[in-house]
Amino acid sequence: MPTNDQTNLICLLDCAEELSRLQNPAEARQSLALGVQRALGAYSVLLYRVRFSASGLVLTLLGWGLDNDGNPNWEDISGGDELNLGCDPLLGEALSSPTTYALARESDEVRVVFAIGPLGEARWLLEVHAMKRPERALLKAAAVVMQCFENNQQAWEYANLDTLTRLLNRKTFDTNFEQLIAVAEKAERNSDDRRQASDDQSLPCWLAVFDIDHFKRINDSFGHLFGDEVLLLFAERMRSCFRAQDKLFRFGGEEFVVMIRHVREDHVRGVFERFRRSIERYDFPQVGQVTCSVGYTRIDPAYTPAELLGRADAALYYAKEHGRNRVDSFDELVMQGLLKLVPAPDHSSIQADIDELFI
Ligand code: GH3
Ligand code: MG
Ligand code: MG
Repeated sequence: MPTNDQTNLICLLDCAEELSRLQNPAEARQSLALGVQRALGAYSVLLYRVRFSASGLVLTLLGWGLDNDGNPNWEDISGGDELNLGCDPLLGEALSSPTTYALARESDEVRVVFAIGPLGEARWLLEVHAMKRPERALLKAAAVVMQCFENNQQAWEYANLDTLTRLLNRKTFDTNFEQLIAVAEKAERNSDDRRQASDDQSLPCWLAVFDIDHFKRINDSFGHLFGDEVLLLFAERMRSCFRAQDKLFRFGGEEFVVMIRHVREDHVRGVFERFRRSIERYDFPQVGQVTCSVGYTRIDPAYTPAELLGRADAALYYAKEHGRNRVDSFDELVMQGLLKLVPAPDHSSIQADIDELFI
């Protein structure tokens, strides 16, 4: 019969094994949080992302786990509000602790905060609340499982992020697109259903392409290193202008793509305008003013990713042709007769043609 400590260690081993094969970051977050919660006998856990920004350390809550009378439950919010590190000294202590965790006894509970990642460069914090202090050996074993989590995330990032800007890469676009299309389809169904017309979930999803204006001139005048710096700062501005749940991609060169969900038709232009203005007003070191052009379209689930990109690109091309540093909507340009609408191909008839070939 294994002792409690042995059972807890086995639980951590299971978690490490799972983290060695999980390929979805949200599943890995859940596996880590619930595995550690169970092994340390915690009644709640909180997982934060740590980001170093120009204004200092920024924490974003990624989710929390609760043990409801032996039924562990994980709520993944993939990017909630940003928090100030200064509001909780234990979080700061964990980030600078060489033992990878900081512990505090507080009235009737013990709080342990683990810093995940290299010392001084931790990228996550896991906060654990328990009734009693877990054994030191268990805390050490949990820290090893967190290293497995870090390795899991690094492998995912290597495959899915652009190396320069750390935005999602072109390859990831197709995977995310399917998910977003599913959300867009649901939104269309909901808005058909008048009952839910006031519900956020019934609002449309949008796809935008951003392209930096005259970027070649920046490279030619200041050199590629300054060009790269502009790309990095551009990506940083994207991260701060859009919401954590928006999907931000670098498609290559100086071209970026954004997918946003559940935004009202009469608000969406304002969202992209706000970003365009924030770039126009930003003083890029050495380079000074940089501008960008934006083309966007509503995500109509009847279209493939390539077709929707083609629509946003057509609007971007229009913006470039009409003075740059502006935002254009494919759908509005079509309504105004300034662009031609490409009809949605009837995929069912294409499929019928293919089927006929095989009869
Ligand atoms: P437009 O306003 O019409 O978009 O003009 P542009 O000069 O921005 O567009 P163009 O497509 O002619 O030039 C894009 C340049 O981007 C060409 C290429 O050298 C540069 N570029 C592509 N990838 C990178 C990169 O990773 N780093 C740097 N520094 N430059 C890049
Ligand atoms: Mg350009
Ligand atoms: Mg370009």
